Amino acid sequence: NEPVVRIYKKATVPTKPKSPIDLDTFLNHKKPHLSFVVIGHVDAGKSTLMGRLLYDVGAVDNKLIRKLKRESEMIGKSSFHLAWVMDQTAEERNRGVTVDICTSDFETKDSTFTIVDAPGHRDFVPNAIAGVSQVDVAVLSIDCSTGAFESGFNLDGQTKEHTILARSLGVRHIIVAMNKMDSVDWYEGRFLDIKFELTNFFEDMGVKSEQVSWIPCSGLSGEGVFDKEYPIGQTWYKGPTLVQRLEQISQSLYNNEHREIVEKPFLFSTFDVTPGSKPNEATLFGRVESGHIQAGETVTVYPSEQSVLITQVLAGNNQAPAAAAMKGDFVTLKVRNAFAEDINKGDLVAVVGYDIKSAQEFTAQVLTFNLDRPLLPGTPLMFFRGSNEQPARVKRLISLVDKADPSKVIKKKIRHLGSNQLAIIEIELIEKKRRIPMLTISENKQLGRIVLRKEGRTVAAGVVKTLDL
Ligand code: GDP
Repeated sequence: NEPVVRIYKKATVPTKPKSPIDLDTFLNHKKPHLSFVVIGHVDAGKSTLMGRLLYDVGAVDNKLIRKLKRESEMIGKSSFHLAWVMDQTAEERNRGVTVDICTSDFETKDSTFTIVDAPGHRDFVPNAIAGVSQVDVAVLSIDCSTGAFESGFNLDGQTKEHTILARSLGVRHIIVAMNKMDSVDWYEGRFLDIKFELTNFFEDMGVKSEQVSWIPCSGLSGEGVFDKEYPIGQTWYKGPTLVQRLEQISQSLYNNEHREIVEKPFLFSTFDVTPGSKPNEATLFGRVESGHIQAGETVTVYPSEQSVLITQVLAGNNQAPAAAAMKGDFVTLKVRNAFAEDINKGDLVAVVGYDIKSAQEFTAQVLTFNLDRPLLPGTPLMFFRGSNEQPARVKRLISLVDKADPSKVIKKKIRHLGSNQLAIIEIELIEKKRRIPMLTISENKQLGRIVLRKEGRTVAAGVVKTLDL
């Protein structure tokens, strides 16, 4: 089944927005926006925590909660109704369409948020990669109930792998939700013991202490999540709740972002594509990776290089028309002059004049994880970048570099890579027909990040340095 390669004519002249906005005024009136993903071990209480959060901030209506409560009581698991909230809202929004990433938006007095989730595959690492690639913050749910932390963490569980991914994929902050604290009567000793062990692990991973927050909470009963008071026994923690901490981070990140939104070119990654009602129309759902865009502007979709006209920008849970979309926003772009069959999830979209190359070979700086066997030239791998996934191989090992200062070469002429080494290597994508638009880390801090897996385990993560064209 040979793919037909169609040649499109790439636009070279930009088109103007239909109703141009004054960007500075728009930004000054916009609430800060933050996206986050909830990671952690199976059964760490992630779904319950997300459901609780959405319910308590008022993002789900009582009717849905009552319905889920009835259904969960019917199977004798009344606590499950909260865990179902996320999946239920996702299902309603994406009726019949299977997507890797889905989002739920909610709003507080001072900020707007997007929760990124992988419905149905929450414990599947490639989905965690796709999710974690798209967010500013990771909420790491830790099951603090007796015995659970020990099994989830020390047995090389998902807690570890997800945290390493969050660190490698450029997440700016990790909030550790010390969850299920109700099950240990909010005992401070338990909190401190787990915090101590995790802190050591974060240090080994190179995560700085100012990039981590610790919040005791219970998704099930709701304390520490939004505004529910802690029980009387909990007197030792006086910090913010999970949502309050998210608000603080959103404010501090947003203040630095204005210039980037105004000055950087528009870039967008596509998570989902649907053909429109007319033959030349399409609907693209994804995230604005840099800059901003408005209806009326022309953009080019890579790798097919078709230029399309944006007819509408839709945002929020209800996907309502928006005046513009900015860096960090999860939006739907309705486009015209498109050939939807040639647009795929993982495609990148850029403003006219910004060219994105599709390289089959590139040089990357990667940190290896704990390896059973060393990586050699020729070792087959799976390559991940956002929601792109492709077979690849190590083409060449170039050098080992210093972890504290990657510009320092420690050793050249290396024959293999062992565990926990930082190296410069050449990677080759094997399926030549499936082109992937690539950006280096200096071009984009998010899209320049990659993960390498082998036989279902993450073996390395890092950044693209140069494309070998
Ligand atoms: P996930 O697999 O990480 O999404 O975990 P779930 O949200 O499905 O929760 C796993 C189990 O832990 C379920 O039986 C929940 O009822 C229970 N659970 C979740 N959150 C809490 C909590 O805050 N306290 C207690 N005691 N149990 C919880």
